[in-house]
Order: sequence, then C-alpha cells, then structure tokens
Amino acid sequence: MSFSNLALSPEIIRAVTERGYTKPTPIQMQAIPAVLSGGDLLAGAQTGTGKTASFTLPLLHQLSSNKNVKSNSTGWVPIRALILTPTRELAAQVEESVHDYGKYLKLKSMAMFGGVSINPQKRLLKSGVDIVVSTPGRLLDHVEQGTVNLSRIEVLVLDEADRMLDMGFIRDIRRIMSILPKKRQNLLFFATFSDKIKELAAGLLNRPTMIEV
Ligand code: AMP
Repeated sequence: MSFSNLALSPEIIRAVTERGYTKPTPIQMQAIPAVLSGGDLLAGAQTGTGKTASFTLPLLHQLSSNKNVKSNSTGWVPIRALILTPTRELAAQVEESVHDYGKYLKLKSMAMFGGVSINPQKRLLKSGVDIVVSTPGRLLDHVEQGTVNLSRIEVLVLDEADRMLDMGFIRDIRRIMSILPKKRQNLLFFATFSDKIKELAAGLLNRPTMIEV
C-alpha cells in the first residue's frame, strides 16, 4: 500500500513524498481511513510508530476539504482543530509536523505552552489560526483571559493521553472538553492502556474505531 491509496489530497501526498516516506506505517494504514471517515478513534501506539502523521495527515485533509464556516463575530477568530499534548516539547514537535505536512495547504497552525510570554500567542490567536497544538494549562490560561475561541472546534486530538493523565491533567482536560462544541470528532492516542484511559475514552468518544499496533 502507498500513500496515494489513502485518499489524501495531492498537496499532502506531495509533502509526505518530499519528506522521503514511501509507504504508510501500520498505524497510518489503519488510522488514516478511520479519521477520514469522520468517526472517533481510540488508538494505542508507541512513539516511533508514525503516530503523529497518523492523525496529522487526515486532520489536514479534513480541514482543507471542509468549508470553513466564517465567524461574523468581531472577537477572536475561532480555531478549528485542537491537539492537546502533555509537554511543551511534544507540542512543539507535533506543530512542526503539522506545519511541514501542511506546507502546500492554506491552513495556519501554532504551538502554545507555558514558560514563555503569553502575548505573542495572543497576537497569533487574534490574527486567526486553524490548528492549535497546546499543553492543557496554557490553553486554559487563554480560555480564562478570553483570548482563544473554541466555539467552532471540529476535531479534538489527545496525544499521549496516558501521559497527560499520569501528569495530573485530568481536571484540565475535562474543563476543556466541557467548553468545546458537542458535535466534533475526537481522536485519543495512548501508549499504555489502563482503567483511567478506559474511563476517559468512555466519557469522550462516541462509538470509536479501535486500533492497537
Ligand atoms: P512518531 O511515531 O510520530 O513520533 O514518528 C516517528 C518517526 O517516523 C518520525 O521521525 C517521522 O518523521 C517518521 N515517519 C512517520 N511516518 C513515516 C513513514 N510513513 N515512513 C517513514 N518514516 C515515517
């Protein structure tokens, strides 16, 4: 199987090919069609399996093919996809992948995390960003200050959800979930399954496709 069998747009295939990938990894073969079908996903995969591209590529495809419903409000421009990660390093790394795989598309992305000034993040958010990759804490800082608009989120990704739970982010995640629109696609990635993941999945996902590699 090659990437061109996966019904991804030519712009995405071009970026992937330029990166030197010849064929999708097992997680990508399973996750990409599942995400493109629009349903929820529960996926178990370690780092190094190609899991980042397994959600990033179909996410970029979906956002670039769905019409962006423009907000007529005068406030912050709504973001369309939210990827939550446990650490700053992972947020930066995932955003770099989003940026690179999406370089031939007209979507804007940014990484957000604490420990750096919040003002440049506010300016970017105000200018209009489609995809935000963030740690839970800094996202909630923006929520509290009213500087992020989550009212039009189409897709939520929890990357390394087990690590987020281990780090004590469950309350933050639940708060974020409670302010997102009800109708959205949810993708949950974990490395190690546990009762806590099961509970989170039960509250978050609607009849998910399940994948484990
Ligand atoms: P990840 O599991 O997402 O951290 O990815 C691990 C590494 O595999 C990264 O350096 C990716 O750039 C690379 N990678 C992802 N998908 C593929 C692929 N289909 N073929 C070759 N390398 C890949």
